Amino acid sequence: MTECSDWHVLADRMRRCVACSELAASRQHVVVGEAPPSARLMFVGEAPGASEDEQGRPFVGKAGQVLDAALVAAGLSRDEVAVANVLKCRPPGNRRPLPAEIGNCRGWLTAQLDLVRPALVVPLGLTSIAWFLGPSKLLLREVRGRVHDVDGLRVLPTYHPSGALRYGPNGEPMRALRADIALAASLAT
Ligand code: SF4
Repeated sequence: MTECSDWHVLADRMRRCVACSELAASRQHVVVGEAPPSARLMFVGEAPGASEDEQGRPFVGKAGQVLDAALVAAGLSRDEVAVANVLKCRPPGNRRPLPAEIGNCRGWLTAQLDLVRPALVVPLGLTSIAWFLGPSKLLLREVRGRVHDVDGLRVLPTYHPSGALRYGPNGEPMRALRADIALAASLAT
């Protein structure tokens, strides 16, 4: 994937980040994310898992396979969209990110959004949704599947592929995830 030079400059700075001492000590890679210069859609997950930490790429495990399949069904491929996470480093044991870690990493994702300037952002799962919509008592089923205006940024929340997988390939969350990604593709292309 070809990314713009500013993205690479930002990525180099991110890879040296040690703001979260526990994560910096345990990570194998800082998983920066990926963004082709022409990306109009940007997906934002929670944090790298074991496969992502090992390979240094976002969404390469089972969740990535679900995301890729939903993109293909919507007429898109991974090479056409930007993908990043709220946290760039894997929390040990895949625990939930701590509020302090989310705060530490906030500037990196903000800088990525400023660089990519996507037509539409799709936060995947509650951690990412709260990053964009605010940490109030959000119910995913109530906010998903429609566009929210967040300070001029168009945001369409949906389930995290890992969360949807827990309900099976034909469960309601998986159907909602596929429908939301198809809607996102139609709105951003
Ligand atoms: S999670 Fe983000 S802020 Fe924390 S060490 Fe990694 S890159 Fe830095």
